[in-house]
Amino acid sequence: MIGSGRTASFSRISPLLLLVCFLFAGCSGADGSEESKFTADRKRMIVREIAGRDITDPAVLKAMGEVPRHLFVDPVFRSFAYADRPLPIRKNQSISQPYIVALMTQLARLKPSDSVLEIGTGSGYQAAVLGEIVRKVYGIEIIPELAFNAIQRLKELEYVNVRVKQGDGFKGWPAYAPFDAILITASAPEIPQPLIEQLKVGGRMVLPLESKHGVQNLVVMTKTEKGLEKKFVTGVAFVPMTGEVRNREGKNP
Ligand code: SAH
Repeated sequence: MIGSGRTASFSRISPLLLLVCFLFAGCSGADGSEESKFTADRKRMIVREIAGRDITDPAVLKAMGEVPRHLFVDPVFRSFAYADRPLPIRKNQSISQPYIVALMTQLARLKPSDSVLEIGTGSGYQAAVLGEIVRKVYGIEIIPELAFNAIQRLKELEYVNVRVKQGDGFKGWPAYAPFDAILITASAPEIPQPLIEQLKVGGRMVLPLESKHGVQNLVVMTKTEKGLEKKFVTGVAFVPMTGEVRNREGKNP
C-alpha cells in the first residue's frame, strides 16, 4: 500500500521530529494552511532526497524547490506528493520519482538560454521543472487526455515558456528544432532518428534505454561532430514509450 507506515498519529510524534518540523517552517505549515504544509514538505524533500543525494546543480535544486508537485499529481495521492516515489497519473501512466526528475535535469547540463524538448510530458511536472531553468520548453505527450490536462495545468500555473502538444514524440517537433537538450521520459528500445537529427551538435539527450531483455538504463548521449557519445548512469524503471518506436523494433541493425 502506498505510504503505509508513513503517517503517524499526532500523539506519537517525537520531540526530535517536532524540532525538525519547526526548522522547516512547521509540519502543518508556518501559517497552518495546506499550501504552507506542502511548501514545508517540499523543502524537506529537497534537503533529504535531492540535495541529500548527488544533486548539486544550484539551478536544479532551486527549480525543484519552486514547482508545486502536489498540483501535478492526482488529488487522491496529494499527501504523497513530496515523498520520493513515482505516483500514478491517469491512463496507467506515472509521474516520475522526484530524484529521477532532478537527476535527468542535472544530466542535461542546462543553461538559461537553452531550448529543450521533452518526450512523454505526462502530468507536465518535468516540463515545469525544465521551464524554471531554461528559456523555452517543448513537450510532446501521446495520450490526448494527459496532453490536454498538462496544457491546462501549465497554463493555470503560468508556465508561459512551456508549450505542450499531443502527438507521437518519435518525430520530435521539427518546427522548433534544433534543441540544446532532449529528455525522453518513457523507456525506448532505441533512440528515434528524428530526435538525433533535432539535437544540436554539443547537445545532450537523456533517456531510459531498454535492452532486448527489457532492462532499462538511464543514459546520456552527447552529440558531437563524430556522432553520439554514450554514458551509462544507472538502472531505472519507466513506463514504455509507445507509438512508432515500437513498429521499428528489430528493424534496425
Ligand atoms: N514526464 C512525465 C512522466 C512521464 S510518464 C511527468 O513529469 O509527469 C511517460 C509518459 O510518456 C506517459 O504519459 C506516456 O503517455 C508518454 N508517452 C509514451 N510514449 C510516447 C510517445 N511516443 N510520444 C509522446 N509521449 C509518449
